[in-house]
Amino acid sequence: MLEGNGERRPVPPFEDRHEQLRARVREFVERELAPHADAWERERFFPNSVFRRMGELGLLGLKYPHEYGGAGGDWVDEAVLCEELARCGSGGVAAGIGAHIGIATPPVWKFGSEEQKRRYLAPAIRGEKIAALAITEPDAGSDVAAIRTTATRTQSGWVLRGAKTYITNGVRADYFVLAARTRPEGGHQGLSFFIVDSDLPGVSRRPLAKLGWHASDTAEIALDDVELPADALLGEEHRGFYLIMANFQWERLLMALGAIGSMRVLVERVVERAKSRPVGGRPLVARQAIRHRIAEMATLLHAGEALTYHALRLFAAGTDAVREVTEAKLFTQRAAVRVADACLQIYGGAGYTGADGIERALRDLRLGPIGGGTDEIMREIVGRSLGL
Ligand SMILES: Cc1cc2nc3c(=O)[nH]c(=O)nc-3n(C[C@H](O)[C@H](O)[C@H](O)COP(=O)(O)OP(=O)(O)OC[C@H]3O[C@@H](n4cnc5c(N)ncnc54)[C@H](O)[C@@H]3O)c2cc1C
Repeated sequence: MLEGNGERRPVPPFEDRHEQLRARVREFVERELAPHADAWERERFFPNSVFRRMGELGLLGLKYPHEYGGAGGDWVDEAVLCEELARCGSGGVAAGIGAHIGIATPPVWKFGSEEQKRRYLAPAIRGEKIAALAITEPDAGSDVAAIRTTATRTQSGWVLRGAKTYITNGVRADYFVLAARTRPEGGHQGLSFFIVDSDLPGVSRRPLAKLGWHASDTAEIALDDVELPADALLGEEHRGFYLIMANFQWERLLMALGAIGSMRVLVERVVERAKSRPVGGRPLVARQAIRHRIAEMATLLHAGEALTYHALRLFAAGTDAVREVTEAKLFTQRAAVRVADACLQIYGGAGYTGADGIERALRDLRLGPIGGGTDEIMREIVGRSLGL
């Protein structure tokens, strides 16, 4: 919780060591990422050296065991990192790093063979190999059961045919953790996961233009008769749906944490702006309408924080937290868009024309109610938990 004097008092699930990590991450983000955010957004790409640098600092393997080069920490460590990444000023940079550590490499850790962990997880922790998670297809987004990409057994392994789209890190990734159909019948049954090296013949990718996340490479990927070795299968054959479900909780929690981090920065900025911007001879903050608007923004932030930390506590304790995680994701993504919109309003023309990264935050945060499962799908899941 943020105290009036700006100090943080560790509140569970955070402990002193998490707050020490927070200070270390914040310093790294403010010194080594934030100063480059504008340039990387213009270039529509942040350099791969960011991964290598974070690997050197031990930030890509916070929750992974020492034997693969990780820091031997816990989920809460990574939660701190993802919350603080919001301070880098580019949703795209946070998304690229988040996809690597939060959604693409966890399945290798949880379901990979020893050999797969050595070949794919360890170099990813060092920042030498970049990973992407490839589930979504042109005709299968919310409806994962509609996946059409097929992996057919051959004498030497598998052959992959199909297409993926909207894949974060898709242009730069060294490998994809990819879902494909291994049984012809539709539905949730018969999906399997594979680790696919991106330099294999038959893999081609194309960057997609988008509203926000400009520094992130989001790709469309074609898979034309890609021959995979037998050991490319990740986890059990036909059990891919369970792997997808296992991964979703952490992805959604990380998105909620990222939204909280972003809302916190926006509230800090708008308070400063309202105090320093004179209108009609008085600072903006002298107007009750402005103060009330900011109070509402802070309330959205703190409500989101409460929901998300509650879900994080349950998740970190190994408790089933599907409803709590889903509610946190649903609430925070929309709240963050509202907070960014209110912030832009208070900044006025300066906000619309780019001051303090407010318009970028609004564009970047708009992905939240779509990515990682849309608002509508979140409501379906919460509804099911109520027996609806
Ligand atoms: C920038 C970006 C990065 C992404 N990164 C990745 C990634 O790294 N890996 C990956 O695999 N995917 C990624 N995605 C894909 C993302 O997860 C999907 O966009 C998302 O799941 C929604 O799927 P869709 O876009 O196909 O929308 P659709 O499923 O086509 O949905 C369209 C609309 O219909 C609504 N809808 C769908 N089903 C229902 C229903 N049953 N009831 C009511 N409404 C419904 C949706 O809520 C939505 O509003 C990314 C997407 C974007 C835009």
